[in-house]
Amino acid sequence: MKVALQNLTKIFPSRNKKQPKPVVAVNDFTFDIPDGTLIGLLGPSGCGKSTVLNLISGLLKPTSGKIFFGDDDVTNLPPENRGVGLVFQNYALYPHLTVKKNITFPLENLKGKDKLTKEQMDQMALEAAKLVQIDMLMDRKPSELSGGQQQRVAIARALVKNPKVLLLDEPLSNLDARLRLQTREEIRRIQRSTGVTTIFVTHDQEEAMSISDLIVVMKDGEIHQIDKPQNVYDDPVDLFVAKFLGTPPINVFDGRVENGKLFIGDEAVLDIPSVPNGNVDVAIRPEGFTLDENPVLTCDLSRVEVMGRDISVVATHNNSQNPVVRAIIDSDNLSSVNGTKVKFGVKPNKVFIFEKETGKRIRF
Ligand code: ADP
Ligand code: MG
Repeated sequence: MKVALQNLTKIFPSRNKKQPKPVVAVNDFTFDIPDGTLIGLLGPSGCGKSTVLNLISGLLKPTSGKIFFGDDDVTNLPPENRGVGLVFQNYALYPHLTVKKNITFPLENLKGKDKLTKEQMDQMALEAAKLVQIDMLMDRKPSELSGGQQQRVAIARALVKNPKVLLLDEPLSNLDARLRLQTREEIRRIQRSTGVTTIFVTHDQEEAMSISDLIVVMKDGEIHQIDKPQNVYDDPVDLFVAKFLGTPPINVFDGRVENGKLFIGDEAVLDIPSVPNGNVDVAIRPEGFTLDENPVLTCDLSRVEVMGRDISVVATHNNSQNPVVRAIIDSDNLSSVNGTKVKFGVKPNKVFIFEKETGKRIRF
């Protein structure tokens, strides 16, 4: 099912002295979610991710704008008639019900011609449970399950009615690191095998990168970039996106353009003949530094961290906006890093420049 959001806006009115101004939680969201894709909705806490999801599910009404499922305008449809499956961060299972009863719960209230027999419900629950590989746990209570298993029950419950759209709101946040990895693979597998259009909300860039077909990067209720994961990383539209993606984070410097050359401090780092003179922010990915030929940037060496395949060279620079400059370099180069200074070359495709005032990318 294709989902289209048109100029979707949600403003929460002011409520009390603590929140004297209305909050624009979602501001003029417009984008199409292609049928069968997994969209990662990525942004810092409080940027409006859950609000977007709740608008799509129908739990919240938009202040303005429209939502389409396929060709149908569902903006005024109540949640139960939208055919969405919802999974939240805290599994929200019924503690007194077995796994099977938790999964069949959304089926129990179907009325009229949709009413199901117990056998039909059990069969559907079993199919959903198999999909998330908990079919051997059907008679347990939630308290007898691990966090990962509980979250799978919640996913099975969301899938049991064959939703047109699956909405996942930070579903992995309560799991430990290993389970998080495993469960995200699982979600990807289930999404592929069912083909259900899925929106996966997370504040974790690595999580979004690893499972999404498309990432929507948002901040303060607004979309900054919609792109394939690799493009969001390789080709950020602004400084916010460049800084939000990547670990270790991108290195940002105060720089300036003078007569077609990009300067950091008094060193010319790159030739960029098409860019007019002025002050800019220069961002360099950690893997964008080299140690071999043509050094262009001299930093004060702090330390070298050995990570096996790579080394992390930690340094400082007067023009750096981050406390340290971090370069990730092939460990073959380990012996050439010593003394108090380190001289880096740069890979031009890993260097981005941005307007000081707006943060917008300046292409060269
Ligand atoms: P996220 O899920 O990205 O952390 P939310 O969508 O929950 O962000 O919240 C976006 C903004 O809207 C926040 O500033 C939050 O405080 C505000 N907000 C969310 N729900 C309500 C509400 N029911 N009433 C007032 N403000 C709200
Ligand atoms: Mg949220």
